[in-house]
Amino acid sequence: MIFSIVLIGCAEVPEQSPEEAPPASDETVGSVSAWLVRIDGKEVGYLKDEPDVTALSEHFKQKKLDELSGSTLEIVRVSLESELSGEAANCRAEDILSAEQLAESYYAGGGRISFSVTVNESETKYISFETVYHNSSSHYEGTKVVKTEGKNGERTLKYEVTYTDGEERSRELISDTVTQKPIDRVVLLGTKKSTASSGNYRWPLSSVTVTSSYGNRYLNGKHGFHLGVDLRAASGTSVYAADGGKVTFAAWNGSYGYLIKIRHDNGDETYYAHLSKMSVSVGSRVYKGQIIAKSGATGNVTGPHLHFELRKSGSTVNPVNYLPSLKNVTVSYSAYPDSCFLNTTAYLSHSVPQAFSYSRREREA
Ligand SMILES: [Zn+2]
Repeated sequence: MIFSIVLIGCAEVPEQSPEEAPPASDETVGSVSAWLVRIDGKEVGYLKDEPDVTALSEHFKQKKLDELSGSTLEIVRVSLESELSGEAANCRAEDILSAEQLAESYYAGGGRISFSVTVNESETKYISFETVYHNSSSHYEGTKVVKTEGKNGERTLKYEVTYTDGEERSRELISDTVTQKPIDRVVLLGTKKSTASSGNYRWPLSSVTVTSSYGNRYLNGKHGFHLGVDLRAASGTSVYAADGGKVTFAAWNGSYGYLIKIRHDNGDETYYAHLSKMSVSVGSRVYKGQIIAKSGATGNVTGPHLHFELRKSGSTVNPVNYLPSLKNVTVSYSAYPDSCFLNTTAYLSHSVPQAFSYSRREREA
């Protein structure tokens, strides 16, 4: 068995040429000491001595490196997995090969060497961008505007990977670097209130108690017609615009005291009377729910409250019919603790007019 492998090695070596042919075999068989080499336990031939086994190993490695040199792999190291062993033995002098010869002979005979190849590998991973939201007072409420498009970032992971005969055996992360930071997607959330009318009204106070209803009433011994509703409000209570619109009046107005009128986009008007302080001026637009004033007790009143009117096509209507319903509304018809003296004389009960002239109302107040 051993002999046949050695013969393969011998077949390729220059010692075969006649002028360098060794002496007759009879004289040399078993006559020299050498090193019998085994690869993975299998006898493969003779080297001169044990140090040549190291040379053989290096030769195999170099062959592998040469083979890999054309690839794009980033080689860290190549090591033999095949086991090279051996022992001292005698053989014919011509059977002793150099490390290179033995390697060539081994490969030529179909022998295989198992290697581990360690390489550097890198992998790119995306870093997903995040979306951040910023409030923006220059955009209307409910709108979203993308200010900055997001962009994914990248990170590069480097590994040292070892393959044994092509099969991955180990993978070690050696670095993880952010090579490109992601860019946040920035979305602006509009906070600007639209001053357009919604067509629906809100109550002009945050807490509502009706102290005097719209319509006919008997106040201080006189019959009258109340053009709006009176809402309980200590002086200084915030007064809100019932809907978006344009301020058309903001000044003293006789028995109304300080009065604000807002014209809404459908032509309706709302009145806010007896104010102590006004914070909007004629011509400005207001949004629904904007604080326009502080309530008070200016004009003809029995006490501080907010007088609120709704006018359609110039005529007053009962605002309660156009406002969110109030649960457990308490209306005191007997005492009128905080009411207007507006229009207390002209209109008798049960005569509910369809329209009222504002100027007349003012004269009578
Ligand atoms: Zn009133």
